[in-house]
Amino acid sequence: MHPPLVDYHCHLDLYPDHESLFEQCRGSEIEILTVTTTPRAWKKNKELAGECSNIRRGLGLHPQLVAEGLNESPLFESLLSETRFVGEVGLDASPRFYKGFEAQKRSFERVLCCCAEYGGKILSIHSVRTARESLAMIEKFLPSDKGKAILHWFTVSKSEVKRAVELGCFFSVNGEMLKRDSIRASVASMPLDRILTETDGPFTNTNGRPSVPSDVSSTLTGLAFLLQSDFASLRSQIATNLRNLEA
Ligand code: MN
Repeated sequence: MHPPLVDYHCHLDLYPDHESLFEQCRGSEIEILTVTTTPRAWKKNKELAGECSNIRRGLGLHPQLVAEGLNESPLFESLLSETRFVGEVGLDASPRFYKGFEAQKRSFERVLCCCAEYGGKILSIHSVRTARESLAMIEKFLPSDKGKAILHWFTVSKSEVKRAVELGCFFSVNGEMLKRDSIRASVASMPLDRILTETDGPFTNTNGRPSVPSDVSSTLTGLAFLLQSDFASLRSQIATNLRNLEA
């Protein structure tokens, strides 16, 4: 038997045909973390995923929505006891969302502090143009003995990768990240035992259509080439990383 494939950041509820996609994923050989962007989506996602252990659901509070003035922290906090998985959360300093950056920081700080208070949570973190700030907040509010941080679509310099590794963070890598040389160099500097795969579907494309969880296999092919490994060993390494992350 093959080790499972891993898609540790996707948005199953945001596909037009999400009900059939959930259906295909339930009980498949892919280990999935489906994240949400708002805590209002939590209940529906819980129902759609059913009791399948291969689909983990993240309780989310997306920084882009926080920037647009949505304050759903109270709802987020009231649901946090229901899940070990949190995401998508984080910071986004791209021009469109920068005006709400102070609100994003307050919200992300609350998320990290609440998670630290519970202990044992696993967080999928968005950090567009905010690697340094995000890492500083993780260090301050969610030290590695209080919870685990996975940096999703982390496109930064090697020195920030190094800093994240020191803080105990994991990385989830998608196919888009392997297309640019500068990002490929950072990905190549990530330690093998900290890497997971993701699609961030439906926000990435594979063969001209929105990526679905099984497309992590083409990411795995590209990643194996970059890391001078091979498909089977990397697949097995990533399955081991997932077990260690969730142990
Ligand atoms: Mn996402």
